[in-house]
Amino acid sequence: MYETLNYVVIILLAIWGVANHGDDARARDDFKVGVAVEDITPPVGMRVGGNYVSPVSTGVHDPLVAKAIVFEQGGVKAALVVCDLTGISLDLSNLVRKAASKATEIPVAHIIISATHTHGAPQYQGPIRDLEHANEIAAKGKDAHESIDYTAFAADRCVRAIEHANALLKPAAIDVGAVDQPGLAFNRRFHMKNGYVRFNPGKKNPEIVRVAGPVDTELPILVVRDPAGGKPRASLVAFAMHVATYGGPEWGADFPAHLETGLRKEFGPDFVSIFGEGTAGDINHIDVSNDAPQPSATEPARIGAALTSTVLKAIPGLKPVDTPSLAARSAIVQLPIEDVTDEQVARALDVFLRKVTPTPDFYLLVESHRILEVRDRRKQFGDSEPAEVQVIRIGSDTAIVSLPHEVFVELGMAIKKASPFKHTFVLSLAQDADYYVPTRKAFAEGSYEVVTCPLKPGCGEALVETAVGLLKGLKP
Ligand SMILES: [Zn+2]
Repeated sequence: MYETLNYVVIILLAIWGVANHGDDARARDDFKVGVAVEDITPPVGMRVGGNYVSPVSTGVHDPLVAKAIVFEQGGVKAALVVCDLTGISLDLSNLVRKAASKATEIPVAHIIISATHTHGAPQYQGPIRDLEHANEIAAKGKDAHESIDYTAFAADRCVRAIEHANALLKPAAIDVGAVDQPGLAFNRRFHMKNGYVRFNPGKKNPEIVRVAGPVDTELPILVVRDPAGGKPRASLVAFAMHVATYGGPEWGADFPAHLETGLRKEFGPDFVSIFGEGTAGDINHIDVSNDAPQPSATEPARIGAALTSTVLKAIPGLKPVDTPSLAARSAIVQLPIEDVTDEQVARALDVFLRKVTPTPDFYLLVESHRILEVRDRRKQFGDSEPAEVQVIRIGSDTAIVSLPHEVFVELGMAIKKASPFKHTFVLSLAQDADYYVPTRKAFAEGSYEVVTCPLKPGCGEALVETAVGLLKGLKP
């Protein structure tokens, strides 16, 4: 399973839109922050994504929103948008970054679009969406479950959020810190008695031998205040746990929405809480060590309340960012794509069209999905996909890293360990689709996440190397 791959790393020196100030702000310049939120709730009746069969949404449990935070110092600007979506399609992020950059002059390379990974969000991208959409049109002449072009709609709203946040830029103080958040996140991969590794084996499964990977309990927190001891107006946390505790069929934003509700009780209704999903590819909320039920109807509130309490307790202990000095960098790393044959593609399509069996088993669907994803990626990119890694430096001790896809926790932990910044926020699910990026070790072990991945082993380690390179290059 192991192979040596040659990755071509192209460091884009963030040459887009570099004005006289260049890319790095000077510490003596005022640090400004703007925050804005736009609604991206799809019409009820659109299909819900995140699974291998897409149910139709029946209502709105929580509005879905896009939250934008724009940073500015000495003419350097950077933007982060986190959407209540399961994943971001490359089409969506490309549209947003291009249009937002044109409207605000924030360089494309300085704009990160990522998803919280809520599973209460629309099915708008990828091979399953394409098949379901095509089937509906073939059967009925139109797709009643896509009454709008969701990509265009969400892109427009994300651009508006960035424009609005940019217009609201005002001097801000930033406090930062990291605390431990135990008891919520669990590694979901286990070595089993039969010698295999299995994901989500079920509570109290007697076949479990031991857990196959770690948990990252660190919760980095950044709070934006009005200068000189003003009230907090926004926060950013990055936590490595799957946002998949909510189960539709109504639109839902899962526990990040409960975290915001909790913080608003303390800081007022205008407070914006931005939750970035950390590297949570192999991490979720299921504690297999007991058999207590964890119903999707109540888990989002429980987890949101626990995070709220942790953040509120941590805020008085946060310290001002050391030497605010805004800078941003982006790099593209070429990740080799798996191979597929025409026969495999034909069979995968038959699986989804229920021609192989009327009730395909889970792994047959997952495998077939990967084959179609590989086909689509190869059509678009050839042998390797250009994966983008980005870093926004806030100050000499604080940086935000974003990675595409659903990255395994070990990889995010490796980035933090090697990072020269004391506080490194690692966000996944940025810019491109939500499939897993396992470690080389996990590729060798197999199981669900590995079966989803259209990339070759080594993809995760290449992301780490690229991120660490960017971070080291940005350390003042
Ligand atoms: Zn996931």
